[in-house]
Amino acid sequence: MEKTLSIIKPDAVKKGVIGKIIDRFESNNLRVAGMKKIQLSRADAEAFYAVHKERGFFGELVDFMISGPVVVIALEGEDAMTKNRELMGATNPKEAKPGTIRADFADSIDANAVHGSDSVENAAVEIAFFFSQRELS
Ligand code: AMP
Repeated sequence: MEKTLSIIKPDAVKKGVIGKIIDRFESNNLRVAGMKKIQLSRADAEAFYAVHKERGFFGELVDFMISGPVVVIALEGEDAMTKNRELMGATNPKEAKPGTIRADFADSIDANAVHGSDSVENAAVEIAFFFSQRELS
């Protein structure tokens, strides 16, 4: 069984669609292995997105990710990483296929509702960033 990390971003938490997004996962055979609602510090967000620190959008991305609480979720299932990315849709919601989470709940490339790990290797690193072993089952 593969694991991946999802983050329900501040825009989607503010809209009150946490449950609707989790339903997309559970209805598509992705099980919640771990979950918590947290307020990221600036240091947390900068460390989590360190790979993007040279990109022009880094500052806005960090500001956005600390603008309110997020829900971090470790998902588990067959092909969990790829399946989650299919369910999310394209990074830019204007390009996301109808029926995807971003097409249905996101407003802009910054406020794009969800994050999903982009490889199985990164998923392991990202899950370890947020969860201790005892928080995963
Ligand atoms: P990720 O690719 O998921 O590691 O995270 C990058 C995040 O940065 C995306 O999910 C977007 O919310 C945000 N972002 C803002 N501008 C851009 C851009 N031009 N290209 C890619 N991501 C962007």
